Amino acid sequence: MREKYLTYEVSEVRPGEFEGKIVEKNIGSLPYKGTFIRVYYSSLNYKDALSASGNKGVTRQYPFTPGVDAAGVIIKSDSPNFKKGDRVFVTGFDLGMNTHGGLGEYISVPAEWVFPLPDHISFAEVMMYGTAGLTAGLSTLKLIEENITSKKGNIVVSGASGGVGSLAVALLSFLGFPVTAVTGKEDFKKALQEIGAKEILPRSALNDTTKKPLLSAKWDGGIDTVGGTTLSTMLKMINRYGCIASCGNAGGYELNTTVFPFILRGITLAGIDSAECPDDRRKIVWDKLFNEWNILTIIKGINKEIPLDEVDTHLKLMLKGQNRGHIIVRHSD
Ligand code: NDP
Repeated sequence: MREKYLTYEVSEVRPGEFEGKIVEKNIGSLPYKGTFIRVYYSSLNYKDALSASGNKGVTRQYPFTPGVDAAGVIIKSDSPNFKKGDRVFVTGFDLGMNTHGGLGEYISVPAEWVFPLPDHISFAEVMMYGTAGLTAGLSTLKLIEENITSKKGNIVVSGASGGVGSLAVALLSFLGFPVTAVTGKEDFKKALQEIGAKEILPRSALNDTTKKPLLSAKWDGGIDTVGGTTLSTMLKMINRYGCIASCGNAGGYELNTTVFPFILRGITLAGIDSAECPDDRRKIVWDKLFNEWNILTIIKGINKEIPLDEVDTHLKLMLKGQNRGHIIVRHSD
């Protein structure tokens, strides 16, 4: 094993001012938590952008390496479930929050967070899904469980140009749902059509600021990655007995609504949490994404691979809502 490794580290350079850069560290400085993993690929998520900007709700102590996703090889493990050389991946839990994350070439995490990577999936491919794919998958599973079957359900997806949004559009379309993608980016329309979106609307389609409790219903289900007015508008526009999977807050965490979507239309608002999602559910979704829901060829065009030295630029774009598609990060071999 090498003695030093490269990592994208964020430090508080002046009170309240945070800067991220690539630094070389001693491997021995990484606190050991039960497994040691050499990371070959990671991916970028909105939470990483929050951690990199000093958001104390995500990361309490700096210097810190963000990265909620990691794929690589076991170097050392105290668990009988893993041995040196096993190909594995980790998404969520505390990784990249207060446990140094996948934007470093090595991570150390409890064995319970580690999943074996099937032989037919590469490190880059599992990161093409990453937390974004798991979240899109959990949201889709929830809609299906709420009986929004592909025969009857047209689905609206907000923040459609983002990581979770674009993967949700691709997955739902692959499963036969007619999908309306709502996006603020004209230049991403073609990409959304290519991954299967049937209709593309501007953000203003989900920006009702009137006091009307309900609007004409347009969709049977929704996946919302934006929150705030986007989610409150979506709630007013879902058909009877429809369901919305609420998984994000890229546009705001507040929700001003009334009880009318629930008591007059029987709508379900379902919460999605991929970070601490129970293992059995997590396994169901990963198994589907690797097999019957395998959309890797479809999402190739919306995944961009970058080296570690481009991470900082992309995290800054993400914080401004300027991300397009999903970004995977390649570490050196
Ligand atoms: P991205 O940055 O990739 O995508 C977010 C997208 O939201 C943007 O590209 C933009 O899409 C839209 N957006 C951003 N700001 C605004 C705004 N002010 N108003 C309206 N839309 C906006 O992030 P991710 O896909 O990684 O994450 C999306 C959200 O989901 C985040 O809030 C994140 O924290 C959450 N998340 C939750 C998870 C869970 O387990 N519940 C797991 C992963 C992510 P467009 O221009 O197309 O409208």
